[in-house]
Amino acid sequence: MMNFMTFDSLQRVADDLRGIVGALEPGCIEGADASRLLGCFVEIERLAAAGKLLMARRVESSNAWRRSGHRSAAAHLAEATGTGLGTAIDALETARRLEALPATEEAVRAGKLSEVQAREITGAAILRPAAERELVEAAGEGSLNVLRLRCRRVRATAEDQNATYESIRRSRYLRHWTDTEGAVRLDARLTPDEGARILAAVKRVSARFAEQARKSGRLEPAAAHAADALAAIVGHCGADVMPSGTRAGVTMTGEPGRRVNRGTMPRGSDVPSDDRGTTTGGDGPRPGAGPQAVVHVRVDHEALVRGHLEAGEVCEIPGVGPIPVATARRLAEDAILHVLVTDGVNVRAVVNAGRSIPAPVRAALVERDQTCVVPGCDARDRLEIDHVVPFASGGPTSLDNLAMLCHWHHYLKTHQGYRLSRDGGTWWWSPPDPTAPGPVLGPGQGRRPDDG
Ligand SMILES: [Zn+2]
Repeated sequence: MMNFMTFDSLQRVADDLRGIVGALEPGCIEGADASRLLGCFVEIERLAAAGKLLMARRVESSNAWRRSGHRSAAAHLAEATGTGLGTAIDALETARRLEALPATEEAVRAGKLSEVQAREITGAAILRPAAERELVEAAGEGSLNVLRLRCRRVRATAEDQNATYESIRRSRYLRHWTDTEGAVRLDARLTPDEGARILAAVKRVSARFAEQARKSGRLEPAAAHAADALAAIVGHCGADVMPSGTRAGVTMTGEPGRRVNRGTMPRGSDVPSDDRGTTTGGDGPRPGAGPQAVVHVRVDHEALVRGHLEAGEVCEIPGVGPIPVATARRLAEDAILHVLVTDGVNVRAVVNAGRSIPAPVRAALVERDQTCVVPGCDARDRLEIDHVVPFASGGPTSLDNLAMLCHWHHYLKTHQGYRLSRDGGTWWWSPPDPTAPGPVLGPGQGRRPDDG
């Protein structure tokens, strides 16, 4: 039933508003008054957006959009609002989620949230409704970027992070095209850790370009220095680096799961800390890569030990975003990473890989494993040092517990549950244990028959 009173008064509001906006003379308005007026318009915009979302959802659920001959409710909304289809799809998704999130809907109806804030909050709170109120409050406190980060943190504890990571990895790409002027353009989609690595390297080198430019009195934007940095980095090492992580086919031999202790560390036990020598892991030889930039990872101690995130915990690369705990564990063994192990707010340990591998051990390792140790894999480039028993599970930094793996096999071992073991001089590579829960084995999971 149409409520004509509502329709009439809303129409009057629109008419009044049109009159006011039409007569505005910004040049004649004091700055302070302009600021107050801006606040009024923001509130009106939010209230209008709230009404729009509620009505768009009703148009969808009532199938009213069909009568106008549109292909979908989103197509109808896109035309009605003069926006793109993607924007309309997002709006309808937000409107649908609001129905299940009363606190957010209340804030939207009160004009307290912008449409973008509502979209961010509903996207996270729909996965973890317990975080809804906290996110609504956060929207009123900080910038949109801060809210986005908090929403991503909530999603990180609610979603299967390994599945998300794997989906990003599968859809990774680097594309290029030539634009109408003839410039080469790039677009890439990368996992957060690979992306962070590249960003850190670009940042480090572009700082040098910026310094050079400053000294010679040239004024150029930071983005220009970043472009120079990328070109310089690739120019220096690109020719030497062969892909080692992309070969098709995985060689697997041996009985599944023989002799690999994937970590039986109970929850709450200690990871390497400053007291007992903090650091494990190491940097593999990276031909032509030159001195490396440092990437920081922040992870809660409990999560690192446990192997996955729980509500309120954080595992992320500052400035990039959340990453799976399994990725943090792998990164902790990589020399260019500084893993800040935190306990709530305090940093408990800085696990900086590489430096604690004694030079003789490293030399012996490089000498022993000149290719990836997985049988059948002869990759020699971009080899990474792996702790056979992960450092987070107390695996020692001894030659016996270290192996060189190519990037691909290191990935399979870290994220896909593949197992590596050694019997004398023979390495065994085994597929994931089918009886293990989930695709990735964490510490204490994946009990095997021979565990006794
Ligand atoms: Zn390999």
